[in-house]
Amino acid sequence: MNLEILLATNNKHKLQEFREILSPHGIVVYDISDLNLKPREVIENGNTFKENALLKANSLKKLTSFPIIADDSGLEVEAMDNKPGIHTARYAEKMGGIGNAMDSIVNFLNDKNNRKARFVCDLVLLNVDEKPLYFEGTIEGEIAFEKHGEEGFGYDPIFIPNGKDVSFAVIGKEEKNQISHRAKALKKLLVYLRVK
Ligand code: IMP
Repeated sequence: MNLEILLATNNKHKLQEFREILSPHGIVVYDISDLNLKPREVIENGNTFKENALLKANSLKKLTSFPIIADDSGLEVEAMDNKPGIHTARYAEKMGGIGNAMDSIVNFLNDKNNRKARFVCDLVLLNVDEKPLYFEGTIEGEIAFEKHGEEGFGYDPIFIPNGKDVSFAVIGKEEKNQISHRAKALKKLLVYLRVK
């Protein structure tokens, strides 16, 4: 099956993961620059991952006839009342970069016993004239005692998925793309699309 989909993101790392996961199933993923689209800036002022994913997808609705997918994702740290959560990208901006943001989480957990955390990905599929459909994936894990690894992106160097000894940034893309929050949400999308 050959299906062409537009991904609403400016994040090249996310785009790469979507392509790595979907292309073996014959799905071609375009991004905004591939189609030379100039969407209005998205203000992510939703209260949930789902709401923010829909805001991203809606920003492209009038610009294309391709099915649109968008994800909103983030890191929930239990000892931080599940923050930064929907503010994960903004948390890094506020801290002056992703390195500082990871350090601040690691430092905060220094004297805490609970290092549990999860990544969440809410994916929305917007087909022309159809209601939005949502697919969610989560991966449980722990925050590492220090940053480790060069692969992946974002908070990968401090996230150790349950059942593994090393961070997402060490295990590498093949394994990450089997078990990650994004992979799980996309597997549900594939089932919906009945793509094997
Ligand atoms: P947004 O979904 O574009 O609003 O951004 C979510 C933020 O969460 C990203 O900018 C990353 O910092 C972080 N994030 C989401 N997914 C991942 C992941 O798979 N690995 C590491 N960080 C992630």
